[in-house]
Amino acid sequence: MHIDAKPIDLRLTTPFRISRGVQSIASNAVVQINFNGHTGYGEAAPDEFYGETVETVLACITQFAGTLGDDPFAIEDILNNLEHIIRLNPSAKASVDMALYDLVGKLLGVPVYKLLGLNPTHSAYTSFTLGIDSPTNMAKKALMARDYPILKVKVGTKNDIAIIDAIREVSSATIRVDANAGWTPKEAIKTINALAPYNIEFVEQPTSPRDLAGLKLIRENVPVPIIADESCVTVEDIPRVAKYVDGINIKLMKCGGIRHALKMIHVARAHHLQVMIGCMIESSLAISAAAHITPLVDYADLDGHLLIDNDPYEGVSVVNGKLTLPDSPGLGIKARA
Ligand code: MG
Repeated sequence: MHIDAKPIDLRLTTPFRISRGVQSIASNAVVQINFNGHTGYGEAAPDEFYGETVETVLACITQFAGTLGDDPFAIEDILNNLEHIIRLNPSAKASVDMALYDLVGKLLGVPVYKLLGLNPTHSAYTSFTLGIDSPTNMAKKALMARDYPILKVKVGTKNDIAIIDAIREVSSATIRVDANAGWTPKEAIKTINALAPYNIEFVEQPTSPRDLAGLKLIRENVPVPIIADESCVTVEDIPRVAKYVDGINIKLMKCGGIRHALKMIHVARAHHLQVMIGCMIESSLAISAAAHITPLVDYADLDGHLLIDNDPYEGVSVVNGKLTLPDSPGLGIKARA
């Protein structure tokens, strides 16, 4: 097998603000693995918060290049081997994982959901994310997103209650909020209780990733379920956080790809946790990879490709909020014409 990687810049339609910063370009990488005339594609969406950049991804792929061997079906062995070559670097590993599933699906002539034994009609509905802005502008964005039955609203500001009030004024969509660790436990308890009457489905990562005591205190004092995102990165985190939250948000770019995401789903279920699958700013390539496993999850937030205006690929489509899985072999993606 031969692997190549190239950087791609994804342009956000509008600058995307969360509690810890703002982004207008996502510098990702696309990898391709060639084998016997077939090509598998994968994508890395590195996040500096988790210690990666596009440069570290490209350096990892160069290091991995000589070690893939010549059996794309040996996914377990190949990916285990990457863990021995370098620690962490989950988005670089996710891109290889995705490309292998794409390749194997193409070699067998089946879509990835079928390879995994999943029912495509059970795919999830995705939320559409509203980045932080003034309450008036966020209400405008909510109106523009009226085709999506679920909104995920970024919070963690001084204006959180005014934001949700303005959005509720114009929208009856299901609302989830994500503070991206932007509150102290005290602020979280106060704010979530004030937001609860607006009918909030759940709150993602109210407080600092390492503050499990804070999560526990919040969960005991608010009437809204709590989902861990930044506090739950890999499968090893699940037993640690399980007692303190109602669910976890899995991302291919945090955990290292489809193979690890599947493990996380099953381990989370063993801990009676709800399961959400989320994303970074990603093209339809990586979003399609995550979409293939949504028949196994409760909630999806797979809208990274809907927030950019230069998506190089097409794959999963979103019809009235529901992820519609492509049924061509592998991930089912192709270059946009
Ligand atoms: Mg989140």
